Amino acid sequence: MSRRSQFDQFEVSELFCPRCRAARPVRRQLLLVLPTGNKYEYRCSACGTPVGSKDDNDASEFQSILRRT
Ligand SMILES: [Zn+2]
Repeated sequence: MSRRSQFDQFEVSELFCPRCRAARPVRRQLLLVLPTGNKYEYRCSACGTPVGSKDDNDASEFQSILRRT
């Protein structure tokens, strides 16, 4: 398993996982890149259960994709 390429963007370090019934380290996954910002999902790093999500208003990712194509 790659340690760095996918999981290097930690922001929230721990969230309560209902399946583990404990606070667990989470990993953030980018779900959608939109013109208005990005949508992220937080998943428990132990069992993979989604434990939260987050939107930001950072359009720079979208802009960088546009520039690449
Ligand atoms: Zn869990």
